Amino acid sequence: MNNNTRHRTAIALAVQWALCAALTPLAAGAQTAEKAPAAPAQAAQPAPQPASQPAQATLRPGDDFFAWANGDWLAKTEIPADRGSWGAMASLAEETNQRIVKLIEDTAGDKAAAGDARKVADYYTTYMDEAAIEQKGTAPLKAGLAKIAAIRDKAALTRALGAGIRADVDPLNATNFFTENLFGVWVSPGLHDPAHNRPYLLQGGLGMPDRAYYLENNERMAGLRTQYQQHIAAMLKLAGFPDADKRAAKVFALEVDIANAHATREASADVQKADNTWTLKDFKQKAPGMDWAAFFKAAHLGDQDRFIVWHPGAATGEAALVGKIDLATWKDWLAFHHINQMAGVLPKAFVEQRFAFFGKALTGTPQQSARWKRALSATNEAMDEAVGKLYVDKYFPAENKARLQKMVANIVDAFGRRIDKLDWMAPATRAQAREKLRTLYVGVGYPDKWKSYTALKVVPGDAFGNALRADEFHTAQEFARLHAKPDRTDWAMPPQLVNAVNLPLQNALNFPAAILQPPFFDPKAPEAANYGAIGAIIGHEISHSFDDQGALFDAQGRLRDWWTKADAEHFKAATAKLVAQYNSYKPFNDLAVNGQLTLSENLADLAGLAAAYDAYRAATGAGANQESDRQFFTGYAHSWRDKTREATARRRILTDGHSLPEYRTDTVRNLDAWYKAFDVQPGQALYLAPEDRVRVW
Ligand SMILES: [Zn+2]
Repeated sequence: MNNNTRHRTAIALAVQWALCAALTPLAAGAQTAEKAPAAPAQAAQPAPQPASQPAQATLRPGDDFFAWANGDWLAKTEIPADRGSWGAMASLAEETNQRIVKLIEDTAGDKAAAGDARKVADYYTTYMDEAAIEQKGTAPLKAGLAKIAAIRDKAALTRALGAGIRADVDPLNATNFFTENLFGVWVSPGLHDPAHNRPYLLQGGLGMPDRAYYLENNERMAGLRTQYQQHIAAMLKLAGFPDADKRAAKVFALEVDIANAHATREASADVQKADNTWTLKDFKQKAPGMDWAAFFKAAHLGDQDRFIVWHPGAATGEAALVGKIDLATWKDWLAFHHINQMAGVLPKAFVEQRFAFFGKALTGTPQQSARWKRALSATNEAMDEAVGKLYVDKYFPAENKARLQKMVANIVDAFGRRIDKLDWMAPATRAQAREKLRTLYVGVGYPDKWKSYTALKVVPGDAFGNALRADEFHTAQEFARLHAKPDRTDWAMPPQLVNAVNLPLQNALNFPAAILQPPFFDPKAPEAANYGAIGAIIGHEISHSFDDQGALFDAQGRLRDWWTKADAEHFKAATAKLVAQYNSYKPFNDLAVNGQLTLSENLADLAGLAAAYDAYRAATGAGANQESDRQFFTGYAHSWRDKTREATARRRILTDGHSLPEYRTDTVRNLDAWYKAFDVQPGQALYLAPEDRVRVW
């Protein structure tokens, strides 16, 4: 989840390994998409319940550690009505959003505010002024639609398609594969060329989240297809197009053709399938139908001599459609997507129509989120680091950064000692793991260098123009990186987001300031509790750089499997016990946790907790004792406090790579120290005989 995640809420939020200390329900973050229907509406504060809490009196830690540690919280917390679950991360995101809006409103009222802070305030305030937007009606659309209407031939069409390209996707860090434009571009070091930034070309052109929505043969998808076609017609009608129904039918048929050329979500996640470098000559040969030189020139990418084509099938298929499908249909497709993407800054009728399809029909969200939340999302997206700087200045003191950096260094050291002791890894592989650890960049709180927004023009009263300019500005900023040396300290996530991310091509991790707060990090809490909470998350992310997925990228961020076959086999054998352990958890009589599906994340939890424990013991030296060990493990359990509705829990068990928080908490039963700290004995539900405790790292 990063600044590029346009329309993210419309997409099934399958969280990949690259992005993941976090829970799945990331839609609660500060950064829902600007023009997409925002995440579920107001999270009402959980109503306090009478604290009956007999929990700790009767429960033993060894029977149910999650309930023992979180008894008070579980007793007094209710899941807000508009959420499927509620926990530490969601409530922290909510709280952070409210703080940021207050900051922006204060800045707006401060006549002395200047520079980027003033722009942030103007952007937000202008987005909030619904009356002004209403009064302008469809006038802001006129210039864009006139340009589309003036397209006379396929050469002009190709230029228009190229000019619409944005840096709005990210297949590896944020795993965002969605763009409504014909293609999306991501700028990052080359898969085999860490010394140069390259443009990555990804498939695009659909309004619905994925090809499956166009092609799957079932009642729900068929119903959505009908409603989507009606939505296209409704948007065209609102913008004043005659014969909207006929046009919509053709636009929809074109998108079905595009969907047929698209790769599946699973194939998109396979980096080996994406490893295709094309020159302009390759585009001409492999993807005829479109003048690629003119296309790239219009996209401001005419100076690039090679592209990494993530979706070669779509490049071929979509170019052929540019050649084959009639000009009028393409022009209507362009017009519809322009209107659809700008709906958030158009009059209410557009906003409501967009929500009726993307919110209600597509995601089942009954109510549109409050305007301030959408305005905040839009501002976050338009000026991510400028908002982040305001937030950090107020809420993330330098001493917190220093403390966390020290903690990270200690955990990295502890992880290194564990690598040294691994008996299943070949010495040559171990040396490469050591090198990867040595060169790992861990960003804490906020970037070393802030982005400048000097070149972005924000005009009070022009919400539509601001959105267009911010979009172009962001793309120009990303494309400028094609002419600069890759910098491993570049961030992929803004500081105000409650999340964490692993950047495989940069051999880097980012821990934004917003997650470095209670219950994950509390400057006033005992150090042991912080190591148990945020320390375990830091360890979790570090370990992903060294597991079966991390093995695909070496210390320089090059796509190169540095494990031997034997290493991979040993790893698999060593993990079988953990698969069995999670398979044995049965939250429902008819449904067990899927140990295989959740293996990578469970392993990262285990490795992270173990490394954080070692680091805490090394950092506190002789001071460690039973009491501080209890603080460590309790801190871990607190960071996973959570309540999940049954329907949501069942869906997650089937589709989410992360275990439910309760079982993530149960990772503790694999650490000997937990038994000592809480005097856990045979016969208690979580007790594992020493030989059954899993040690992989
Ligand atoms: Zn993870």
